[in-house]
Amino acid sequence: MWEYNDLILAFQELKLNNKAVVAHASLRAFGQVTGGADSIATALMYSMGAVIMPTHTYKTMITPASGPANNAVNYSRAQAWNRLAEPFDPNMPADVMMGVVPESLRQRPQASRSMHPILSFAGVNAGKILQTQTLENPFAPLMEIANADGWVVLLGVDHTANTAIHLGEKLASRKQFTRWALTENGTVTCPGFPGCSAGFEALEPALRPHTVVIQVGQAAIRAMPMRMVIVQTMQAIKKDPLALLCDRADCERCAAVREGLKN
Ligand SMILES: [Zn+2]
Repeated sequence: MWEYNDLILAFQELKLNNKAVVAHASLRAFGQVTGGADSIATALMYSMGAVIMPTHTYKTMITPASGPANNAVNYSRAQAWNRLAEPFDPNMPADVMMGVVPESLRQRPQASRSMHPILSFAGVNAGKILQTQTLENPFAPLMEIANADGWVVLLGVDHTANTAIHLGEKLASRKQFTRWALTENGTVTCPGFPGCSAGFEALEPALRPHTVVIQVGQAAIRAMPMRMVIVQTMQAIKKDPLALLCDRADCERCAAVREGLKN
């Protein structure tokens, strides 16, 4: 059983108390933690200079009857899902796909949240970082962290959860997608939507020399400078334009990236 104090002591070993970080976490990877996700979120908050986590809300997504070609959207098939879309509101919980820790961080009284209707982040001591996000530039908070020499912290998750790789893809001019979200003001267009992350663990060997690893129970905590993640992503794509794509035959977004490279 891991206690809050154990987590604080472990996270402080990363020496990130003066750094801004984006964190991705799996509660389950830790095994038993007293206080669960709340303990992890609070320990992160007190061990990092500033911390943000993705609190994405996919249930706001809605699809028009037609849109850009090669956008990894089957417009006619998607219509059936539109009736399930809910308008974004700032108190909407993070999608369950994000795990429970970001939602717990969002609920801290000290936390604030950015306003992107699909790709929001929540954070503590991160008001200025979160404010940089726009509809057109959903990963601007990550750029802000990179520019401030900030770090990525992966808690019991691998690089398939590492959103900074999406920023590297964008900076490498990899194809981005268009999605749409329902808001209280109607449907808004959300450009700059990222591709698939299922192939991102392929970047691990390149990042390993730059990674600090500590072990908390069964969970490996990996931390690395965000700038290094971006540089290594860009280098991988420069070397091979198909780098970091997944090999699932039915992956629409990776297929669209491959298709876009043919033109
Ligand atoms: Zn894929």
